[in-house]
Amino acid sequence: MHFVKVKGILSAQNGMNLYRGCLHGCIYCDSRSRCYHMEHDFTDIEVKENAIQLLEQVLKHKRKKCMIGTGAMTDPYLPLEIKLGNVRKALELIDRYGFGAAVHTKSSRVLRDLDLLQKINRKTKAVVQMTLTTCDEELCRKIEPAVSTTGGRFAALKEFRAAGIPTVVWLSPILPFLNDTRENISGILEMCGEAGVYGVICFSMGLTLREGNREYFYAQLDRLFPGLKEKYIQMYKNQYMIDSPKNKELMHFFHDTCSRYGMVHDNDRIFEYLHRFEDKMESAQMSLWDL
Ligand code: SF4
Repeated sequence: MHFVKVKGILSAQNGMNLYRGCLHGCIYCDSRSRCYHMEHDFTDIEVKENAIQLLEQVLKHKRKKCMIGTGAMTDPYLPLEIKLGNVRKALELIDRYGFGAAVHTKSSRVLRDLDLLQKINRKTKAVVQMTLTTCDEELCRKIEPAVSTTGGRFAALKEFRAAGIPTVVWLSPILPFLNDTRENISGILEMCGEAGVYGVICFSMGLTLREGNREYFYAQLDRLFPGLKEKYIQMYKNQYMIDSPKNKELMHFFHDTCSRYGMVHDNDRIFEYLHRFEDKMESAQMSLWDL
């Protein structure tokens, strides 16, 4: 790990990454792509040492309340977060200044912050997003080796729901010839239904590969699934979008199954929900006036 001072902390869409790089080792990780110009080793985590001060300045002066997101480029609940507590400090500020929060992770370490997320959710909105790719625990340990397995994430989703915190699942990526089966999609959606998730985001039954993450992914395929890399190269060459040959059929199945479980499966609608700030205190007051 190394520390750097940064100039800004919130993106134009009010997202933040308190760390850069990741230790969770997902074989398909897009954040390894060269286009992000990371100048250090991906596993040498960059800690933005002034992130919390910067965030406080921004939140203090922001004229309009909004949702603050984290988890787009790196998993915020890395093992070192338990020691450093920067995500927790950021959530404390979000709570203090009355903003909403949308966190995205694959780690059940997020349960540490359940109390804070609940507090935020009582006043505004806090949403926990989790990625699920496979309901096969053994495959999960291979493709996402250093993070909670699907079983752990499923348990966390249920706990958040029980605490009244809405959840969203990202069904992505789906790796051709590994987890692109109807049984897998069905198993994941069944879990989502049981965990009462608000919605499931899925762009297609596939993944993206480009310079940087492609090399890493192929090296891991060679190590874990010998012969599969050659099949990918033959089928997809240097394509960026790598869709499963069963994409169409599985997407139909995905939409039908989500409808059956009453889960939102329109990506635009889910993104609108994730970005929509809600002032529950004001709404409660308005309904009092209505009495
Ligand atoms: S958790 Fe996310 S950022 Fe970390 S390795 Fe996995 S895909 Fe990449």
